[in-house]
Amino acid sequence: MNRIRVAIDGPAGAGKSTVAKMVAKRLGLLYIDTGAMYRAVTWKAIASGIPFSDEEQMVELASTIDISFDSDDDRQIVRVDGADVTQQIRSPEVTEHVSTVSAIPGVRSQLVKLQQKMAGRLGVVMDGRDIGTCVLPDAEVKIFLTASLEERARRRLEELLSKGVRTDLEEVMASLARRDEMDSTRDLAPLRKAEDAYSIDTTGLSVPEVVDRIVSICRQRLGTNQ
Ligand code: C5P
Repeated sequence: MNRIRVAIDGPAGAGKSTVAKMVAKRLGLLYIDTGAMYRAVTWKAIASGIPFSDEEQMVELASTIDISFDSDDDRQIVRVDGADVTQQIRSPEVTEHVSTVSAIPGVRSQLVKLQQKMAGRLGVVMDGRDIGTCVLPDAEVKIFLTASLEERARRRLEELLSKGVRTDLEEVMASLARRDEMDSTRDLAPLRKAEDAYSIDTTGLSVPEVVDRIVSICRQRLGTNQ
């Protein structure tokens, strides 16, 4: 089980990271949140005053940025050049611009290279938009998580309100829909279900139900009941 690679893709707010983290814990695998890596590049560009339209500087940033993951109990910490940016990369400003940054081909190729290196030959659960189609096309298990836009927006709203962000359902729905549209229509590695991925619609399912389903797919796939 500890060499299995599990790719989890899907639109924003489908619950990928919550579920992926728990699947990784259950199966004793490393968890890599690739969305956090695109967010880290976006955050650093803003912090360094690099315009997103300056492709050369953006690619230079993506090839030199030092992104690392750390975990503290159940919380994942994201570091950029050693500094904890876990909160900053979830800000509304980063969320607003991350799809523009992730559509830059040179940024994607740098981050995909890094993601493939991080996954190495070890078992991993990786979540994102193009994991099953581009980053780990030969992953043993591929999952495509979806949920209705309204349900995704409701979950995201709850999360944002609990963090003290002032917003409402309409605003969150519009922001998710905008990001989905950009992520699924970009030229390079658009959000798409891999042909051999299992689709799970999480509307109306609890997190443990989704986790159980994925863990049992992994066990079936490897022909093990351990
Ligand atoms: O997963 P999360 O919503 O944090 O991802 C933020 C953004 O990063 C996505 O909206 C998408 O533009 C980009 N992304 C991507 N490919 C991935 C993961 C994320 O393009 N594998």
